[in-house]
Amino acid sequence: MEFQRRGVMLVIASPSGAGKSSISRALFGADPSIRLSVSVTTRARRTDEVEGKHYYFIDVPTFERMRTDGELLESAQVHGNFYGTPRAHVEEQLAAGNDILFDIDYQGTLQLYEKCRSDMVTVFILPPSIKELRTRLERRAQDSFGSIEKRLKNARVEMAHYNEYDYVIVNEDLEVSTQRVRSILASARLSRERQVNLDSFVKGLQSQIDSI
Ligand code: GDP
Ligand code: ADP
Ligand code: 5GP
Repeated sequence: MEFQRRGVMLVIASPSGAGKSSISRALFGADPSIRLSVSVTTRARRTDEVEGKHYYFIDVPTFERMRTDGELLESAQVHGNFYGTPRAHVEEQLAAGNDILFDIDYQGTLQLYEKCRSDMVTVFILPPSIKELRTRLERRAQDSFGSIEKRLKNARVEMAHYNEYDYVIVNEDLEVSTQRVRSILASARLSRERQVNLDSFVKGLQSQIDSI
């Protein structure tokens, strides 16, 4: 039996290249009640990225207007570009009982904590080693050499915050890691606070006892 429930804000964070996009894709592909929070960004589109699917690619003045008008739930500057989470979509989906997956950095997670802590479950993904992290970044072959160096340097800072997340997973095997995130989400969905009609269900059970 399932109750009407409020959606989970599932935040998956990691140093760039540790595998959060791969894990997110695998989760998202297998579960129709998961929605992706599509960020706006001022970064240039990579060749394999689709507007509205991976990001909404916008210019800096548009970003600034959205931020000023309160249309962003959180925003941050990462690797020299601006990123932000559009607010309206998140609020609609949570109320509809859909879970939302966030691929955001530490700065973004902190801002969400301030506004939405009770809706959130956060997972931090670590690479098995820095050698492997570099290999993955190189294999992905989507960032220039300088950008890979910058991402590795940035990884040091991102990793320092691992202890502020609810769960930590070392992404050695992609399938195992994805399954672990699935288990975390399954538990979160059953939390008492998210099950909207529990109170009336229990009252119903009690009144059945009363009428025995
Ligand atoms: P990748 O991490 O190398 O795959 O690169 P991306 O360009 O996809 O993401 C760059 C960084 O921006 C990542 O750390 C994301 O988690 C972060 N990011 C993406 N979208 C958002 C967002 O809406 N808000 C915040 N705060 N961070 C975001
Ligand atoms: P992020 O989103 O954290 O930057 P990605 O998901 O893009 O990282 O992963 C970076 C690269 O590493 C991709 O080429 C991806 O296919 C690969 N990758 C991710 N997880 C694993 C894993 N467990 N084992 C081997 N390669 C992986
Ligand atoms: P990339 O440019 O490689 O796609 O992303 C760079 C970084 O920006 C990543 O660490 C990612 O988590 C972060 N990022 C992406 N979207 C957002 C967002 O909407 N808000 C914030 N705060 N960070 C984001």
